[in-house]
Amino acid sequence: MSNHSKNFLNNRVLIKGEKQGYCRICKQYGDLTHDHIPPKGSITISPVALRTLAQNKEIKSVIAQGGASFRTLCSNCNNNLLGKQYDPELNKVSKEVGSLVNKISDLSYRGFSLPPKVEIDIKPQRLARAVIGHLLASNYHPTQSESDIKKHVPSSEELRNFFLDQNVALPENFNIYYWFYPGNRQVLIREAFMSFYSHNREPLIFGLIKFAPIAYMLTRDEPKNCKPNALNLFSNRNIGIDNTEKIQINLDSYPRLDSPEAPNDDDKNIIFFDPQLTSIATKKESKKKGFAKKQTS
Ligand SMILES: [Zn+2]
Repeated sequence: MSNHSKNFLNNRVLIKGEKQGYCRICKQYGDLTHDHIPPKGSITISPVALRTLAQNKEIKSVIAQGGASFRTLCSNCNNNLLGKQYDPELNKVSKEVGSLVNKISDLSYRGFSLPPKVEIDIKPQRLARAVIGHLLASNYHPTQSESDIKKHVPSSEELRNFFLDQNVALPENFNIYYWFYPGNRQVLIREAFMSFYSHNREPLIFGLIKFAPIAYMLTRDEPKNCKPNALNLFSNRNIGIDNTEKIQINLDSYPRLDSPEAPNDDDKNIIFFDPQLTSIATKKESKKKGFAKKQTS
């Protein structure tokens, strides 16, 4: 990774769009509204709990302040569809796993440790549309012209169609993976390429939404020899919009906290992404003293 990219990852990122423009989902021209990641209603994970878990993984915490906010969606796509129809499923997973994680820092649960896994009843079709809706919302580029907005990310067309039509299945060339992510960085990448040193491996194209306690990765045209080491959201991509399935989340084994956006010598890979389609922020920790101190007993 170049120094420029490294610096970019550590800097505060504040991205905005114009007050009026084309909605990145329905393409209608008009007033645009802000999309928030994490969405309102998701759980806030205690910094103490994150630090406790991160120590187990030996990841240094990076202190910075910022957030991802894109003014890229019309009110209907943002509030009526994403906010009311789909975000509740994203928030449900966040709350169920997050309430367990927060017990680690709650004194009344002294000595609490996470179970190896949890199972949660979710509606995969709605959860998938929430993930894709936020990825589509992040399709903002300062130099985008009107026509660029429509063609900037080639896969957007199929994803928009999936988001807007509750009766269609996620196209076979896309997969959505998820894993437990107890990290303090919030990462949003519209589209990146993971290349491998080994020349017989094709690159992996992915989008990423990570905010504690879960990470979601969307892959496109995934090469056969390059499956992400994570669980697939869909066991059946043709199920109905309100059908429920149990998803399993492993809490005792999960990828490195900076995976997959940081290159990794073990995997022998290099990551390419457009900084304009990427946002990485670290939540500023509470200034309250006492709790922040490392416990010695
Ligand atoms: Zn719209």
